[in-house]
Amino acid sequence: MQAPNHATPVQPAAAALAGAAPVTHCQLCGSTERDTRFRDGPFEIVACRSCGLVYVTPRLQGQALLDVYGEGYWKSDDPKQRGYADYAREAALYLRTFERRMKLVRRWLPPQARILDVGCAAGYFLRVAQRFGHDVHGVELSPAIAHEAVKALGPDRVHIGTLDDAVAAMDHKPASFDLITMWDVVEHVPEPQPVLRRIRELLRPTGHLLLETQNVASRWARLLGRRWHHYKHAEHLYHFTPDTIRRLLGDCGFRALEVTPAYAGKYVSFGFLAERAGRLGPVAGWLARPLGLLQSRSVYVNPHDEMIVVAAPA
Ligand SMILES: [Zn+2]
Repeated sequence: MQAPNHATPVQPAAAALAGAAPVTHCQLCGSTERDTRFRDGPFEIVACRSCGLVYVTPRLQGQALLDVYGEGYWKSDDPKQRGYADYAREAALYLRTFERRMKLVRRWLPPQARILDVGCAAGYFLRVAQRFGHDVHGVELSPAIAHEAVKALGPDRVHIGTLDDAVAAMDHKPASFDLITMWDVVEHVPEPQPVLRRIRELLRPTGHLLLETQNVASRWARLLGRRWHHYKHAEHLYHFTPDTIRRLLGDCGFRALEVTPAYAGKYVSFGFLAERAGRLGPVAGWLARPLGLLQSRSVYVNPHDEMIVVAAPA
């Protein structure tokens, strides 16, 4: 191949597209009809005309998608665009968040329940659940953060790899879990149906799936439009609504019992709030700057733009 003899400036947008491919149809209903909500660099956020699923095109594929979740994801230089500022440093905040969320989770659990957290990251939810006396297991695809979970819970409880790998490696039996959780995971999975069907198999008939995902139909999402902080196009492949998540779960052998923004909030540091305010615009960022000086203080924030879904085998 002949090299071009004129210098072509590399556009950051084009660089972000390496390893990406257009998404031609809706993952939920198969329709190719859609409306563009907005464009952002090389990415387009579209809504399916048939079922309403909101999704991103083009999409990173294969290894390019996995590479998003390397070290830099969990300690990101640019968390507005991708990943977390410092996931491990904020351990105390995640533990407090899950302690609070246990008030909801406990309603759906027998004592000494067998729990599997899919996409367990550093294992914070499992550490809290273990303190409540439950038998906890986790699976996490990103080795960069999964090592923290293995360190805290042991290699016999946490598998690094896909859910299918974990089932084989850890010998998880069908109908063997009382609760399976996916906290902020389903929107990252290119093909969620096989994962959800596998979860369905692993649940006891009396068991429950609890998942959290962002709600693109929420008031906060509609108010902020394209500035909504959950638009991170390399990683958030889908933006569900209560209707589209119910449909997805229905297709995979579940019925949604409850869809609620309650307990879907998070403890955040004031530094995090300042960073997120900066995303809203220069004025909001400037107004929030003093918060950044109170890095070590934290507050529970729930803008009701995420939802927790409780589902049972249909
Ligand atoms: Zn659709």
